[in-house]
Amino acid sequence: MELASYSDYAVRLVNTEEPARSKDTLTSVEAVRELFGGSQQAARRATEADVTRFRSVRARLRAVFEAADDGDETLAVDLLNSLLLEFPVSPQISGHDFRDEDGRPDWHMHLADHPSNATAGYAAIAAMGLAFHLTGHGVDRLGLCEAAPCRNAYLDTSTNRSRRYCSDRCATRANVAAYRARKREEAERTGRSAEAAQPSTAVTDR
Ligand SMILES: [Zn+2]
Ligand SMILES: [Zn+2]
Repeated sequence: MELASYSDYAVRLVNTEEPARSKDTLTSVEAVRELFGGSQQAARRATEADVTRFRSVRARLRAVFEAADDGDETLAVDLLNSLLLEFPVSPQISGHDFRDEDGRPDWHMHLADHPSNATAGYAAIAAMGLAFHLTGHGVDRLGLCEAAPCRNAYLDTSTNRSRRYCSDRCATRANVAAYRARKREEAERTGRSAEAAQPSTAVTDR
């Protein structure tokens, strides 16, 4: 597993909240556990106290994406660095579950197998993954969806750095909105020129 792919942990956590719509799905231990995906062992460690702790890490991760989206690279890096300091990784090589054709373990890195609590483990993985992504691909690869009111976080992995939306759904929604706005503008413009073609009485009288 490439370490930068752990940056999905950061995106997944940030997107449990939609501030503009006042929506928040991170309201229970179960919701916290779901974020761990396949890492069942780590997920089981989560307790009620982690809900609040996860939310606080989420706000700080969102701030990193916001700074990057504003083009403030130094701020984004400073914010991420402080998360890295606070939630350090404790790397271990692991070979569980997976075997190659010859039955040898598929050795891979685990970043936080023995954290003090579930939040510390998750935050360490998310921050490290995001740091690898940022240094490997660029700060401008971190973005927030432009299809208002959505402000979901995304990582741009397109070859020409053209990504602007969190999902296909938002891209479609933005395209439809842009099309409607164009149509409205056109209608207004033709309306106006029709008015202009009609000489007003005030002008002809003079
Ligand atoms: Zn593993
Ligand atoms: Zn979106």
